[in-house]
Amino acid sequence: SNTLHIVGGGMAGSEAAWQAANAGLQVVLHEMRPKVETFAHQTGNLGEMVCSNSFRSDDDEQNAVGLLHWEMRQANGLIMTTADRHRLPAGGALAVDREPFAETITETLKSHPNIKISNEEITTLPTDGHWIIATGPLTSGALAQAIQQETGTDALAFFDAIAPIVHHDSIDMSKAWMQSRYDKGETEEERTAYLNCPMDRDQYEAFIDALLAAEKTEFKPGETAGYFDGCLPIEVMAERGRETLRFGPMKPVGLTNPHQPEVKPYAVVQLRRDNALGTLYNIVGFQTKMKYGAQTTVFKNIPGLENARFARLGGIHRNTFLNSPTLLDAQMRLKSCPNIRFAGQITGVEGYVESAAMGLLAARLAVAEITGQTLPPVPPTTATGALVTHITGGADAKTFQPMNVNFGLFPPVAGLKGGRRGRKDRYKAYTDRAKADWQAWLTAPKLDAA
Ligand code: FAD
Repeated sequence: SNTLHIVGGGMAGSEAAWQAANAGLQVVLHEMRPKVETFAHQTGNLGEMVCSNSFRSDDDEQNAVGLLHWEMRQANGLIMTTADRHRLPAGGALAVDREPFAETITETLKSHPNIKISNEEITTLPTDGHWIIATGPLTSGALAQAIQQETGTDALAFFDAIAPIVHHDSIDMSKAWMQSRYDKGETEEERTAYLNCPMDRDQYEAFIDALLAAEKTEFKPGETAGYFDGCLPIEVMAERGRETLRFGPMKPVGLTNPHQPEVKPYAVVQLRRDNALGTLYNIVGFQTKMKYGAQTTVFKNIPGLENARFARLGGIHRNTFLNSPTLLDAQMRLKSCPNIRFAGQITGVEGYVESAAMGLLAARLAVAEITGQTLPPVPPTTATGALVTHITGGADAKTFQPMNVNFGLFPPVAGLKGGRRGRKDRYKAYTDRAKADWQAWLTAPKLDAA
């Protein structure tokens, strides 16, 4: 049939419903609130923003999330056009008046002739029909269990433990070096898997002091249900003993600093390549609940990271998300049940804007499939395409953690200056290329399904 079922009326599900209904499908949107509540949502409205009211930077020439705004506006995205309508003054950021925002989303979807809203919790994985599951970071327990039964327990996480991610071109390689511990690794890819930053004793002691003194964020009430010791924040490890990190993630063994081969480092901060492009590295074991401002201050004391630019900072939150690189195909379908697509934060993106973008894309892919057409692949040079390419293939499945959109996910533009000085031109080149490619994709003729 031509009916598309969408589970979850948050950022992704609301956008998906709008896109599919406008394309002529009949949509049933299943939302459990207000009957079943989450620890973060306050209302029964669709499109509720649970925490900050910011869609972050609106700069579509120099910022990847601003570019994502632009792409969704071009695609008549409901989340973006509604955010624009309820915009609050906030300089270069897009801040949103959250209550009227969610009320408008709710009214718009309720009054759409092709959309039926069903207030119920879905507790099992559907076996037939066309579905998009967009139940978000706080997916209800029963559905999470059903997903786990299908995918295996390790394939669905309930917390993220995000280590900070650094742009490779901002690391000072006159201090850092590439080496795997004990020189494991034979191929070029293995040899560039790890990058090391050395510390002497004074630097290590100062670093521990800074960690202990830094301002931290707290878990919200109800957030820690099921939290376990496996992903301790670095500052908690440091609290357990000043040497804990030096015998844990910062152990200096099996490594030789080629810049100073005769000096044995007292501790080593290791970074691991985070994407196939090699443009991003994450700091191994450095998940943290330090406040963002404190993180940048503390991490810039690491030799080699003095001028680091962070693609994302660390965090630990309640977050239900799939190991998408192993479970989803490029069409966002669950490989083992291709009648089900996933969208939104449960696919391993992070944030209101990224989640809405993944709802927009999943709906367009579903519409094409249901109407017997095939969309050309989304260009990985666009913000939407870079994100979906990362979660369904580019990211390392073994260390997969949720991702914000950032230019490190984009294939480099050839022939441009690297480093800090060329940044402005480089970002402009990324966004120019993305806009042209996104326009072309939106207007490309659909191919008939083979
Ligand atoms: P959601 O917007 O959460 O929507 C999912 C919907 O599915 C919900 O309405 C839920 O009720 C419903 N649902 C769940 N299970 C079922 C079921 N079994 N059957 C039917 N319906 C179901 N992002 C930011 O950009 N900035 C922030 O400051 C920020 N702070 C956050 C703070 C907290 C405490 C949390 C939990 C998240 C925060 N996020 C923040 C992330 C943001 O909430 C998500 O990125 C975004 O809402 C995800 O969109 P989504 O559509 O995937 O999920």
